[in-house]
Amino acid sequence: MSPVHLDDERAQRYLDGLLPEPERARVDAHLATCADCRLVLDGCRALAEALSGLPAALPPPDFTEAVLARVQERERIVSRERRVAAAVLGAAAAVAAVLAAVGGPAAWAPALSRFGAGLDVAVTWCRIGADVAEPLLRALRLEIAVATAGAAIPLLFALRRLSARAAAAAS
Ligand SMILES: [Zn+2]
Repeated sequence: MSPVHLDDERAQRYLDGLLPEPERARVDAHLATCADCRLVLDGCRALAEALSGLPAALPPPDFTEAVLARVQERERIVSRERRVAAAVLGAAAAVAAVLAAVGGPAAWAPALSRFGAGLDVAVTWCRIGADVAEPLLRALRLEIAVATAGAAIPLLFALRRLSARAAAAAS
């Protein structure tokens, strides 16, 4: 059973002819006796008329051309960046090929090895930093922070010596 008085949604459905027949007859009978619901219905009718009188919103005349121009400009920039990246990679490959041809593997292998060792040390230090920082940040009490630092500092020095030895052995 529908409520007696009309709300906005039921009034709109009534105006749009969407209420099924037994309910529509009940609303008709109610409207004959209820001024409040006639006001709700008049409000919905006035709103629908006002909305139908509004002009449709249209994009500016050059909207499509402006969007397409921006898309093409973006594609030009991406294409230029790809060409530059390919040129840089090609030049690097050419330099590496010339070095390999002129000096053989002996000319560039030590530099590559030093780079690899440096990378290894950097990764080790990042791991150590993360392992130490996380417990410190979690520790809210000063004693725990001090104990962690006290345990970590000798460990850091030992690991640093080991890293230095590994780097020396690699080069
Ligand atoms: Zn009513």
